[in-house]
Amino acid sequence: MDSDGILNSIRDQSGETEFYLPLPAGYQLGRTKFVIVFGTVMSGLGKGIFSSSLAKCVQDKGLRVSPIKLEGYLNIDSGTLNPFRHGEVFVLDDGTECDMDLGTYERALDQDLSRLNFATSGQVYRRVLERERTGAYLGRDVQMIPHVTGEVKNRLRELAIATKADVVFVEIGGTVGDVENAHFIEAMRQLAFEEGQHSVCFVALTYVLEPPILGEQKSKAAQLGIRRLLECGVQPHIIACRAQSPVTRKVREKIALFSNVPPERVFSMHDCESVYLIPELLRGAGYDRAVMEWLELTPRANEEAERVARERWGAYLNRLRNATRQVSIGITGKYTAVRDAYASILKALEHAGAHLECKVQVRWVDTSELTEETAGEALREIHGIIVPGAFGTRGATGKIACLKYARTQQLPCLGICYGFQMAVIEFARDVCGLEDANSTEIDNECRHPVIDLLPEQKKIEGLGGTMRLGGQDVLVKPGTLAARMFGARTRLRFRHRYEVDPRYLPQLEAGGMIFSGKSPRAEIMNILELRESLHPYYVGTQAHPELTSRPLSPSPFFLGLVHAALRRAYPDSVQPLAYPAEAAGEESSGVSPALTSHEWRMERT
Ligand code: GLN
Repeated sequence: MDSDGILNSIRDQSGETEFYLPLPAGYQLGRTKFVIVFGTVMSGLGKGIFSSSLAKCVQDKGLRVSPIKLEGYLNIDSGTLNPFRHGEVFVLDDGTECDMDLGTYERALDQDLSRLNFATSGQVYRRVLERERTGAYLGRDVQMIPHVTGEVKNRLRELAIATKADVVFVEIGGTVGDVENAHFIEAMRQLAFEEGQHSVCFVALTYVLEPPILGEQKSKAAQLGIRRLLECGVQPHIIACRAQSPVTRKVREKIALFSNVPPERVFSMHDCESVYLIPELLRGAGYDRAVMEWLELTPRANEEAERVARERWGAYLNRLRNATRQVSIGITGKYTAVRDAYASILKALEHAGAHLECKVQVRWVDTSELTEETAGEALREIHGIIVPGAFGTRGATGKIACLKYARTQQLPCLGICYGFQMAVIEFARDVCGLEDANSTEIDNECRHPVIDLLPEQKKIEGLGGTMRLGGQDVLVKPGTLAARMFGARTRLRFRHRYEVDPRYLPQLEAGGMIFSGKSPRAEIMNILELRESLHPYYVGTQAHPELTSRPLSPSPFFLGLVHAALRRAYPDSVQPLAYPAEAAGEESSGVSPALTSHEWRMERT
């Protein structure tokens, strides 16, 4: 049968064919190209960073790209995963709780992603089972192949339709050989067959060992890993060899020989000092050219767009390189042993640091044993602190002690989500005289529950996907620091069940706490601050600003913190900070005017 004949039979919807191709309405085979990245040999090779950098290289050429991560686990989303084990839970604007790699993609591509960009086996199976119950499979037995694999392909094609992407970048979670990812790999094999020649580019990320006892690179593990992929019917087109040092020509040739990939498409992907250098490293090696050629996209590349994109990125790298000053920021937390639990915070600090041309050194402050007596000692020689998000009770006392120290000792401080809530508790206790103030998350019986469940949360049962989640508009109070940061409004991402109980607002405000950002629709406090004349930088937010910080547009919350820390470290030589919103206001008169105090109060009721 020629290829048209094959396509005709797979399009046959009569139920008589063994092919199963439920194409979503409006989908045109072969129009969107796909780059599929597989991990071989072992996990932890930085597949997300690699894929997002490669996607960035293609995006920089003026093409529209959209990434998707396929996760093998059966959870419907990442919301119920422990950040200790899996790294932070990333939240998208539409409220999807997903793997932290989605954060890597959003930052690299400077793109807001949605639930379409994240699929787990749990989601795929759920959809297949729901369809089975509605009788959608026309009396057939429902099988891994073709129905589960069909659903996987469906997800990619739905994404292609929704985003009108020229190229969809697919990252397969885990490592080739994992049982839980086998259906994804099989689906990709089918996809390549159905989409046609040069529509799908398979990239195998592998690992070249360099055992110190031998002092030379060995390719056997990589060969075996790729053989595993070949056994699944997937012939890679490009091989990326992760390694400590540049992979030698001899080793690359050996890998080429064993995997039917021409040596010029077997590349080194060795460690480099910063992930921000990887796009240039990939371009230098020729990865982008190889992908564009295989997918026959070269004629669509826009050289001017690429030049501009590289220049902007280069300027960011220069700012990182030029950083001569250094500040140290303490992160007070529970999961301090696992850096991945705070991945986006670390990135947001880097973005702010680059903008201000200073290096941010992170100091981990374990709060589990801290008290008011020991907090000062623990925060010695730190120029600013972040009290990050958390759940439960552990470490709360220590965090409150750190917040008190920061507030009373003029130490720059940013409270995020749980940290914002702890700042309210500390202030209620110490300034407003509400000694028994607490959060009902910590003490359900306390006399002054200044932090309590959101009203809608009181009715909710079950844990998965039930918090107040995702992007929400925030109304900003005029004349405040927040107004300097954002103008009249902004949009932030949330993930919480508790909030400031609005009954306590009069007392807290009378004590001097300013609630400078709130939800436009409900009485939910989103940003707090102390007057700039009273404290160099004491700010909290119920949101997670780290999730929306991007290299070229750092979060103002982090900019403010790092800038205040710089002033503490170098009191005489730091220029005042112009927040991006202020700078924009100066340049264009077209920005929406700030609300007057009166309007803000009106919207609040
Ligand atoms: N546990 C708090 C709440 O649910 C804070 C959550 C967080 O820090 N993400 O509101």
